Amino acid sequence: MMGQITGKVIIITGASSGIGASTALYLSSKKAIVVLAARRKELLDKLAQECISVGGRPLVIPTDVTKYNDVKKLVSTTLAKFGKIDVLINNAGLMAISPLKLSKVDEWEKMVDINIKGLLYGIAEVLPIFEKQNSGHFINISSVAGIKVFSPGGTVYSGTKFAIRAISEGLRHEASKNIRTTTICPGVVDSELKFGSTDPTSLQSIIDFYKQAIPPDSIARAIAYAIEQPTNVDINEIVIRPTKQE
Ligand code: NDP
Repeated sequence: MMGQITGKVIIITGASSGIGASTALYLSSKKAIVVLAARRKELLDKLAQECISVGGRPLVIPTDVTKYNDVKKLVSTTLAKFGKIDVLINNAGLMAISPLKLSKVDEWEKMVDINIKGLLYGIAEVLPIFEKQNSGHFINISSVAGIKVFSPGGTVYSGTKFAIRAISEGLRHEASKNIRTTTICPGVVDSELKFGSTDPTSLQSIIDFYKQAIPPDSIARAIAYAIEQPTNVDINEIVIRPTKQE
């Protein structure tokens, strides 16, 4: 059975900018029903208009993934409106780079809350639905920083991204066999992510490092590739980086 994108109901967290926004547009151009979730409603509303202009059917649901009740509402509203969920793209993320010695505990907590707990909330709500449907596809956005640790400064961010790969692997084992799990590991991609550090030295080094960045649609195309495989083909992991990145 060939997979397809047309008509699929696809929830995208962190859809208001960067990779999430680009993916929403790309999937809309392939006639997906995209559910746009993030905190900045005005950006989601603007993106929704762009999705419509390329042939998509977007739905905006303002969501803070660190609030379990928000994620519950995101999933229940989607199910009530469309009667099914085909794909959950767990994409919302924060990269607050700083050396461990600065003890920026509040930023470590934010990264754990968004990058790990936010992703787990999505899995908690959507997995029972996928099990009932006996189909569904999780796409979890990790990073090249989930494969190796960039130091100094990248330790906690990498910790969250390593965790996403571990959770994805466990999810693939535990979910029923018709449910797919894909981990996407981007290298440096041009987006707002690089501005997440409050440590001026780390911020400057990240901005310099990001001069080699590739555009977000490079990742959108990889996500679409995983979705459009035949339903019995599960692309487990894709690593994408600029040719210049080590
Ligand atoms: P952006 O900063 O452009 O996008 C991050 C998105 O996450 C925004 O839409 C933001 O929306 C959303 N977000 C942040 N906090 C929350 C929250 N509490 N609840 C809901 N949404 C939230 O970065 P990217 O597009 O680059 O990042 C997307 C993913 O890709 C992240 O997981 C990132 O770690 C990963 N990645 C990115 C790489 C890169 O180089 N850019 C490389 C490897 C991985 P809002 O503020 O409106 O809530």
